[in-house]
Amino acid sequence: MLKVYNQEELSPTAIEQLVLRNTDPNNAISDTVYSIIEDVKSSGDKALRAYASKFDQVDLEQVYLGKDDIEELASTISRDQQRALEIAFQNIHRFHSTQLKRERVTETMPGVKCWREARPIERVGLYIPGGSAVLPSTLLMLGVPARIAGCKKIVVCSPPQKSGKINGFVAYCLILLKIERIYLVGGAQAIAAMAFGTETVPKVDKIFGPGNQFVTKAKSIIQGQTNVSIDMPAGPSEVLVIADETANPAYVAADLLAQAEHGPDSQAVLVSTSAELIRQVNLELNKQVSLLPRQEIASAALTNSYAILTTDLRAAMEFSNKYAPEHLIIESDAWQSITSLILNAGSVFLGHLTPESAGDYASGTNHTLPTSGYAKSYSGVSVDSFIKKITFQQISPEGLQQIGSIVEILAELEGLHGHKNAVSIRKADL
Ligand code: NAD
Repeated sequence: MLKVYNQEELSPTAIEQLVLRNTDPNNAISDTVYSIIEDVKSSGDKALRAYASKFDQVDLEQVYLGKDDIEELASTISRDQQRALEIAFQNIHRFHSTQLKRERVTETMPGVKCWREARPIERVGLYIPGGSAVLPSTLLMLGVPARIAGCKKIVVCSPPQKSGKINGFVAYCLILLKIERIYLVGGAQAIAAMAFGTETVPKVDKIFGPGNQFVTKAKSIIQGQTNVSIDMPAGPSEVLVIADETANPAYVAADLLAQAEHGPDSQAVLVSTSAELIRQVNLELNKQVSLLPRQEIASAALTNSYAILTTDLRAAMEFSNKYAPEHLIIESDAWQSITSLILNAGSVFLGHLTPESAGDYASGTNHTLPTSGYAKSYSGVSVDSFIKKITFQQISPEGLQQIGSIVEILAELEGLHGHKNAVSIRKADL
């Protein structure tokens, strides 16, 4: 059952507390992650093997799988499953292909041309979560834009399964993406390995991918310690559903549970204008949760979750903007009337027939999204995340005449005579 709050009775401080999530008050996660990072830095592959044994209960002879293993594992999945992955791959490819656009050259003054060109980030590291659930979909969500961007080296890490390998679905996605090796490394140690490099895991320039709190913390720490950047803080998954009396309580409950089953630290929030809908959703949650194989995880996540009764859809959206959800679902006949009010959200699902699961797997949009309120300042992963935009300029004799004296004045007022001279010396030859 979701705890229910009435928005009108909540003070601003109470709302601030409600929208806070995944804090690490005693630094327990932080301390663990710092020590894992140090260990990987000093002991390399040896540390990776030790952590695989400790956290994944697997003794690894080799910390990666190559092409032959990948092909063998991929052949174990059925044709229907392969086809579902192929269609997801195609839709994600179709949607992301539109994101690589050539920008126009702008003549800021006659003879002064400026433009930007995209170049791929050369070496990227993709983290594919695999602790409580293996997520081949995440491999497609990261691998497809990396391929479209043209990244030269794509390093993939995922925790080993109990078999000491990966599952066939991840293997089939590797084949679709033409990636011939996967490193059997999970958690904070995978992030450290890609940030610093080990005997076998190559160092990369940028690390991508969601994960649990250990993974997310490791990404934020290595970003401060190295020149390796990260896509965003993408931690434990969350959803906020805005629903009114037109919503189907069974659909709303199903959407909340789809999120809750990710992990005990996931959060599902319902904001509704109807007390009756909240009551019905709670009944449905009880009914549906008992049918899920991951019932225990989903029930634990529901204890961190809650419902808010609000006066109208506008007030519901105000709360949502403060929460800044990774996923926002609007289940109302009037969804069109409030989409322009959305300020902070990772990915949005509109109407009664648009479950978040569609975007999680196959509609085409990316599912690697900012969590924990970071949707206030970060976007989800896209092709843009895998490229840099380099600025270019080219100045003609006419352009130098036009802009030269402006630069000379500005350089002089800043007292930078070398800057002024670099213009004057050329102007004198015109
Ligand atoms: P994971 O791969 O992120 O983590 C598993 C690894 O965590 C293990 O291999 C182990 O190395 C490490 N670990 C486990 N317990 C540890 C401990 N006590 N100390 C140190 N390290 C430990 O897989 P997961 O745990 O299933 O988590 C996946 C997460 O990814 C979920 O929270 C899910 O919500 C999130 N997710 C987020 C998005 C997004 O876009 N934000 C998308 C998909 C999934």
